[in-house]
Amino acid sequence: MPYFLDVVLPIPLERLFTYRISKQEADFLDAGMRVAVPFGKSKIYTALAYNVHSNAPLAYEAKEIYQILDEGPLVNKFQLKHWEWIAQYYMCTLGEVVRSALPSAFLLESETLVLLNKNALVDELDLKDDEFLVYEALQHQTVLKIGEISGIVDKKNVLPLVNRLVQKGVVLQKEELYEQYIPKLVRYVKLGEEFHDETKLEELLHALSRAPKQSQVVLSLFQLQAKSKKPIPIADLEKESGSSRAVIKALIDKSILEEYHIRTDRVKFDEELKPEETISLNPYQAKAFDDITESFTKSKVALLHGVTSSGKTEVYIKLIEQSLEQGKQALYLLPEIALTSQLIGRLRSYFGNKVAVYHSKYSIHERVEVWNNVKDNSDKAQIVIGARSSLFLPFSNLGLVVVDEEHENSFKQFDPAPRYHARDAAIVLASFHKAHCVLGSATPSIESMNNAKKKKYGYASIQNRYGDVLMPDITLVDIKEATRKKRMKGRFSETLFNAVAEALEEGEQVILFQNRRGFAPIIECTTCGNVTQCPNCDVSLTYHQYKNQLRCHYCGYHMALQQGCLACGSPTLDKKGFGTEQIQEELKELFPEANVGRMDLDTTRGKYAYEKIITAFEQQEMDILVGTQMVTKGLDFRNVSLVGIMNADSLLNFPDYRAHERSFQMLTQVAGRAGRTKKRGKVLIQTYNPYHQILQQVTTNDYDKMFEEQYYEREQFKYPPLVRIIKLTLKDKDYNKLNEASQWFASSLQNVLGQQILGPEYPPVARIRRDYLKNILIKTSRTQSISQTKNSIKRIEKSFNAISKYKSVRLVYNVDHI
Ligand code: ADP
Ligand code: ZN
Ligand code: ZN
Repeated sequence: MPYFLDVVLPIPLERLFTYRISKQEADFLDAGMRVAVPFGKSKIYTALAYNVHSNAPLAYEAKEIYQILDEGPLVNKFQLKHWEWIAQYYMCTLGEVVRSALPSAFLLESETLVLLNKNALVDELDLKDDEFLVYEALQHQTVLKIGEISGIVDKKNVLPLVNRLVQKGVVLQKEELYEQYIPKLVRYVKLGEEFHDETKLEELLHALSRAPKQSQVVLSLFQLQAKSKKPIPIADLEKESGSSRAVIKALIDKSILEEYHIRTDRVKFDEELKPEETISLNPYQAKAFDDITESFTKSKVALLHGVTSSGKTEVYIKLIEQSLEQGKQALYLLPEIALTSQLIGRLRSYFGNKVAVYHSKYSIHERVEVWNNVKDNSDKAQIVIGARSSLFLPFSNLGLVVVDEEHENSFKQFDPAPRYHARDAAIVLASFHKAHCVLGSATPSIESMNNAKKKKYGYASIQNRYGDVLMPDITLVDIKEATRKKRMKGRFSETLFNAVAEALEEGEQVILFQNRRGFAPIIECTTCGNVTQCPNCDVSLTYHQYKNQLRCHYCGYHMALQQGCLACGSPTLDKKGFGTEQIQEELKELFPEANVGRMDLDTTRGKYAYEKIITAFEQQEMDILVGTQMVTKGLDFRNVSLVGIMNADSLLNFPDYRAHERSFQMLTQVAGRAGRTKKRGKVLIQTYNPYHQILQQVTTNDYDKMFEEQYYEREQFKYPPLVRIIKLTLKDKDYNKLNEASQWFASSLQNVLGQQILGPEYPPVARIRRDYLKNILIKTSRTQSISQTKNSIKRIEKSFNAISKYKSVRLVYNVDHI
């Protein structure tokens, strides 16, 4: 009897491919093991075994596999089932899911590039002959394709060999070329060496009695030392003594105090970590915890709706603890950008070394390590904190999934496929494991709240901030009025300016929010009105002052700022609108004494760049932080008393049915950064339109009203959650062809599906990277079978693909487009 193996190739092809295998291989193989297979003329891929059978493929002669790469499944049954669900639901191929789910170290292929790991200590004697050949070749040539390695060792299949070299740390894959490790530096102080001597110390205190401020600092240092044996951060001393950094600096300059740095590794905790904290919930948290536990008896999913700073994390921790006690793994999902050391630290101090972190910015090795720990159900990975890709880890025994900040739209992957929503995929994953799932937010998405109201999900709420801290006091500032009365300093109303000044005087910190980066989004000629556009996209170029460049935020195109108008030559160019960079510049003029930091896409590119800014702000090395929506994400700063929103209108006017919901969420979240300790925080929202209902709802913290109104609108205009939406985007470089093709597609959909097709329509940015874009929206009612609709769409796609003139047109599906 012949034996065959179906495999999933990590490429966007619909079907499985069949290879020939021997009886022994058939006996050994299991779904989820990797095999090296030849593909096409000369390619080698790592593929995933799917099933063994004895039916020869009809359409082609099955080739033999090269080799089995694993001893046992790398991917378990839960994962395969989940990945198939993702492929089916989000209309992509299983291969695309595999490609995005597995760390690339597991998917070596003939085109993969490898290079020498410069940091590795290689003992040449440890290398086998073929390994040594590769090692040596890489001394002369910086990168090698795996295909080339085949030539060097004169073997067809070298994936096992390269796998071994990767495992030994001798070689790295090309993508891995980013910073491996940047330690965080924290500044600490101690008493100068000299004063460890008693008499010297007495003399010093005597001498200082004439400088009360300095003596206060030294006494405070003693008090802090008495409280704990730990090193004392400068920031703590500053707070304890109530004196300024200048006073401390003076003492350091006089060698009375000594400043030193400790490298604290934020990610790796090498030493045995002993959990040191115990958490007791306050009555509101305890109630929420009980409500959730109670609701789990009826529904597997619960929504935790707790205002900002209500202490949702502590409730999650208790839930995780409960799940651990039952011997089950827990997954804690966060939006990519919110993945901060603050949270990791909190969980580590509670659960010690049981916490693992999984994140796309981590190196391949770190990711492989976490993967293996989860697979082996090792003690080191009982709790995984991660961004959306951690959904793909080999959990075998999941008891709880937490989705924090569940309203965040960055949970949805836009590009490439699978274009999945991590919250929704998490709920499905949990259900496969019969695990509980808790969604948490201060501003739940309309979808989740709707599910809670319809009793599909359990529901718990916390209305009070932890420690009886008051909700921030939110005020709207009418800048139309202020502009008319000429009461603006640049982009700052008098009210906001004064508030910033006051906060600084009090030694408190300020966050300023502006949802655009760069200096000015539009450069316009005052003579002919020409606006400088991106040559590849349908958008204006944004001016970045720091580089004196115009940049496209869609494709990355950039050019130097021109001297005059490109259309008429006139030298007078006007900068319209403003971004974070401009605010930072204005602050330098308005508050020359203040330290101003900025957090946006431009300042957070490196691996730890985001963390560094957060740390610096935490340590109060900055007085003001200007940022885009990045500053809204669940950060917990203690000393921020004022949050200013530079302009709320650009959020509200975004052309999208979700713009209002999102504005509410973003403004409430950023407002929530203010006053997280005793003193009541203050929030000022500048707007031209202070009567806007969303702004009113933000000021009164009226989530229910917002929900009611938005829900009503969605009902009226048929948007989710009342219907489902599949967005189909067609792309082509040829404008006319795109129009024709999308018209063809829309009419075919119309014929089959009837009323529910909208478009084709140009999106607000109708051309990106030289591709023209057109969208077709397919709305289906909740009662309709979504899989039937998808099948119909797929059938139409088949006919479409058969039309040769549309060959170049690309199709992108986005299910539950958000
Ligand atoms: P949320 O995520 O709801 O905005 P956090 O979980 O960040 O709020 O909690 C806000 C602050 O209150 C944090 O600094 C946290 O350490 C503290 N906190 C919350 N609950 C407790 C508790 N039960 N015991 C001690 N500290 C708590
Ligand atoms: Zn001009
Ligand atoms: Zn562009």
